[in-house]
Amino acid sequence: METTRSDSHLDRYAARAQGMVASEIRALFAVASRPEIVSLAGGMPFVNALPLDAVGAMLQHLVVTKGTEALQYGSAQGDPGLRERICDVMALEGIVASPDDVTVTVGSQQALDLITKIFVDPGDVVLAESPSYVGALGTFAAYQAEVVHIPMDDRGIVPEALRETLVRLRAENRRVKFLYTVPTFQNPAGVTLSAPRRSEVLAIAEEFDLLIIEDNPYGLLSFDAPPPRPLRADESERVIYLGSFSKTFASGLRVGWALAPHAVRAKLVLAAESAILSHSNLTQLAVREFMDTHPWRDQVKSFAELYRERRDTMLEALAETMPEGTTWTRPAGGFFIWLTLPEGLDSKAMSPLAIANRVAYVPGTGFYSDGQGHRHMRISYCYPEPARIREGVHRLASVIHQELAL
Ligand code: PMP
Repeated sequence: METTRSDSHLDRYAARAQGMVASEIRALFAVASRPEIVSLAGGMPFVNALPLDAVGAMLQHLVVTKGTEALQYGSAQGDPGLRERICDVMALEGIVASPDDVTVTVGSQQALDLITKIFVDPGDVVLAESPSYVGALGTFAAYQAEVVHIPMDDRGIVPEALRETLVRLRAENRRVKFLYTVPTFQNPAGVTLSAPRRSEVLAIAEEFDLLIIEDNPYGLLSFDAPPPRPLRADESERVIYLGSFSKTFASGLRVGWALAPHAVRAKLVLAAESAILSHSNLTQLAVREFMDTHPWRDQVKSFAELYRERRDTMLEALAETMPEGTTWTRPAGGFFIWLTLPEGLDSKAMSPLAIANRVAYVPGTGFYSDGQGHRHMRISYCYPEPARIREGVHRLASVIHQELAL
């Protein structure tokens, strides 16, 4: 929500609305969508690669044959048939789950909202990686959580730092509600929590009675070796797992899910009921139909192949063009690379020069709730075609060279 000087309702808003501020990133996207600009800023899946004619025919068939179900109210927990298929998707990553423990949500973003709603009181602490997913930080702010960032490196969150933070917060008598983590192909950093660290994080969670929200929208978009098993595959009672069809099928359908311990699932469904009564049956059945009538595993593989080529293009272009002192991560899947500028440069201050040079990125500051991130930026390779990626990276390198010359 944007509050302006002319807003005559300022005194009326609930305290929590104070935490709802326009994301700088949304404003940036408006500029970045101009055709002359190569946008390395967005995180949009390349849905253009879907077989659109076949999806269209499938949707028409769905309405004609199952319209009275698809166009009717459904349940707040989600379509039972879709929940079964969601369990098949999770099985690909080693998770054994019952459809009864799945709640379908409006993208995994709604799962984040519902989880925060049921667990967080104003002032409670939520732990998150440093940097963390901007959409989650927005949700935590809306529920007036205090986010404490945990350092990460190229193998993901640093377990020792997690432990130290928990010890400190315990000594301060703070209420830590959960750790929010994107352990695989992280947004924005593109890094993956290593297998040994996964065990360490689970052991620390056990020791400190910590709940973990494992957000895994990119896990199936793996380019090299399969990623380590999700945390949820090895611990079912203190991990709530979030999944989504946004990156493996179609983000516009807005279908995601939460897999939660049984008691939590019951609360989630109640929260969903009060938020939306029931999920869209049309989009749920569209996903179900797609999975039943199309080789969806092949579709996921072909998305992964497409993104792998784009990642390779971006990594090559970075190696060719970036000035000394610039470093970046090498994602093994997903959409994003995290770039660190040479010392003394500021990605936010540099953004207008980048726009003038017809390239856009997301300054690192958007991914922290404590003002860090000035030397970093997120660049994504998911949407632009390879030639545009190359051009965008060349433009970006020229901007950094110009800044260094100042
Ligand atoms: N979590 C992460 C880490 C994401 O990157 C995104 C999408 N950008 C989401 C959750 C939300 O995805 P959706 O609501 O489309 O499932």
